Amino acid sequence: MSYFRQNINDADGYVPGFQPQNADVVKLNTNENPYPPSPKVVAALGKVSAEQLRRYPDPLGQSFKQAAGNLHGVDPDWILCCNGGDDLLSITIRAICDSQRPLAYPVPTYSLYPVLAQLHGCPVQEIPFNEGFTLPSQLVEVQAPLTIVCNPNAPSGTRIETETLATLAEGLKGVLLIDEAYVDYANAHCLDLVRDYPNVLVLRSMSKGYSLAGVRFGYGIAQPALLAGLLKVKDSYNVNAISMALARAAIEDQDYFQDHINAIKRDRQTLTDGLRQLGMAVVDSQTNFVLAQVQNGSAQKLQELLGARDIHVRYFALPGLQDKLRITVGTAQQNVKLLDALKALLP
Ligand SMILES: *Cc1c(COP(=O)(O)O)cnc(C)c1O
Repeated sequence: MSYFRQNINDADGYVPGFQPQNADVVKLNTNENPYPPSPKVVAALGKVSAEQLRRYPDPLGQSFKQAAGNLHGVDPDWILCCNGGDDLLSITIRAICDSQRPLAYPVPTYSLYPVLAQLHGCPVQEIPFNEGFTLPSQLVEVQAPLTIVCNPNAPSGTRIETETLATLAEGLKGVLLIDEAYVDYANAHCLDLVRDYPNVLVLRSMSKGYSLAGVRFGYGIAQPALLAGLLKVKDSYNVNAISMALARAAIEDQDYFQDHINAIKRDRQTLTDGLRQLGMAVVDSQTNFVLAQVQNGSAQKLQELLGARDIHVRYFALPGLQDKLRITVGTAQQNVKLLDALKALLP
């Protein structure tokens, strides 16, 4: 006897990265931006009024949609505001999948996808990436009602070319969700596909590039006919008034955003070079983290030893990842601390 549905009894639930409460640790385990959000975001927080708190928020986030529409050159009606990108993943799976309608995605990738599928009672078709993280051809062959491609992918840091995803979208009868949570650090994006393909949904997050992981704001971009189905599923007030105001202030300060993205991209190269000099194999990354292969010794052990020094990185006990660490690009100073610690710990 249990209180819960069978899927919930069977589910493990998502295991988030460790969130140490101590502020002066070197926290390179959950891909947050190491820099604070724009001062304009903090100013917008100060301007939130008691009246805004008393009333329900705008259910669709019209003012954010306007600002994001301007930035991306799309009509605001092509944007759906969400309580973090994860909310969009959950809404989309609920709207499209069930026990007869599977979710497909290439692996290894974001470990939340199978967790959400399991909660909704939907089977998954996990197709291993080809060598070098290129797109496996079976992804189109399985013709799942929903296919998700994380691009750039986590935890590989690699990116599939836009043209390859255009071909996939063309070949799929179902929806192709392109998870662009890390796109701010990449050298291309897939927004243009939304115009050409009615089955493409692009996910964006304010957590990584815009330093707003604590705010919980993300959005989807797709043609209005596709968004209409998702709108029926979302909570009526899925985004709160404070998040909406802060997210808008953040995307309106593109100068601040771009400066900090550029700093992280530059430091990503320095970190990659440093790790390679220590004998680790590192794939070139288009995200704010790198996947580093530990050549001698155990990656898990190394993660524990770093943790004991208050330097937190991510280890995944998953096929293909057991000899690797995922390391978020921190500030230049944090990256040096990590490299110094590795120098001392590696044989
Ligand atoms: C961070 C992340 C998201 C969305 O995160 P939110 O904080 O909910 O916006 C989605 N996909 C991937 C792969 C991510 O890493």
